[in-house]
Amino acid sequence: MQQAAGRAGAILTIDLGAVRSNYRLLRSRLGSAQCGAAVKADAYGLGAIRISEALFTEGCRHFFVAHLDEAITLRPYLPEQASIYVMHGSPVGYEAEFIEHRCIPVLNSCQQIAAWRELAQQRQTALPAIIQLDTGMSRMGMSAQEVQAWLADPEFIDGIDLQYLMSHLACAEDQQSPMNRQQLQAFQALRAQLPNCRATLANSSGIFLGPDFHFDLARPGAALYGLTPVAGQANPLQPVVHLQGKIIQTREIASGTGVGYSLTYRSSQVRRIATVAVGYADGWLRSLSNRGIVYIGDKPAPMVGNVSMDTITLDVSDVALELLYPGALVDLISTKNTADQVAERAGTIGYEILTSLGLRYQRHYMDTSADQQQTISHTS
Ligand SMILES: *Cc1c(COP(=O)(O)O)cnc(C)c1O
Repeated sequence: MQQAAGRAGAILTIDLGAVRSNYRLLRSRLGSAQCGAAVKADAYGLGAIRISEALFTEGCRHFFVAHLDEAITLRPYLPEQASIYVMHGSPVGYEAEFIEHRCIPVLNSCQQIAAWRELAQQRQTALPAIIQLDTGMSRMGMSAQEVQAWLADPEFIDGIDLQYLMSHLACAEDQQSPMNRQQLQAFQALRAQLPNCRATLANSSGIFLGPDFHFDLARPGAALYGLTPVAGQANPLQPVVHLQGKIIQTREIASGTGVGYSLTYRSSQVRRIATVAVGYADGWLRSLSNRGIVYIGDKPAPMVGNVSMDTITLDVSDVALELLYPGALVDLISTKNTADQVAERAGTIGYEILTSLGLRYQRHYMDTSADQQQTISHTS
């Protein structure tokens, strides 16, 4: 077993080569449509700057974040050919910062469109934007009524350089859901009434719904980071994240001994317990208490007792003693125990496992296929 390096209690390794390979796989599914990337929430906790730089070398030119601040942070690291879109649009009164920082708002309401149009008129220049339409998720974008206001007003988007019409799928990971077709039809019906313009609909799972959903640009996030895009099917993407925790100490407990806060686990025989330096403050969710599994070498070790802020406790009675020294590494997220599998035990989704990844980890970036980088890089 690898000797733990560094002072941190846990080590997070992110494989940029796997991210690039996942990007290529998604692009190969897209035919002539372009493949963008959702890098919001610090690229789902994996580091938006490193991930975006790696994707740019693969030809990615369309990057989506949620907040203006995320775009401002990322902008200096990407060349001018890269567009950065802010999916929440502008916070009220901050429209001019989009021009200053060269990022593009996704306009979601009449109000956001009016503010962008007024700025364009003030500056006497065309300003780029995406306009989002709500096709059934009831979360973001223009409602059917707002679209009517647009149709009734010939000057509605004067001064706006409309780059894409956009919508977002609510149920794309469930290929059986009738909602997918309903949203597709709603999107097509709205587009038919609006100015002729490129379109973007698919997230990761949407790409796997087939060519009807691809339009001109896809916006995958989760699949780039190795999460499974289609419920109930084998995951075609490469794992990106390896999370290892360090053993601090081990102890033998007698039958009938409680472990952890509130003693929610009590041994029914003699057991060996290992304490590992990762807890809910590191995003190792408390809902994994008495449910999670960690791998030590090839052996699964069940988590026993409640997750603490900074530690978890494992039943390592079946693990060889020579693997149980202070500083030994255990696999929290690995190919044997993917983020999707951890999520299932925690009662959540892989997205939440990744975006919760803590800031106390020692972070390593590796690139399994860096040597191929030059030959495969291309622009689209
Ligand atoms: C987060 C997000 C995406 C990316 O979704 P994934 O399921 O991670 O691929 C795409 N579009 C919008 C509007 C989003 O909010």
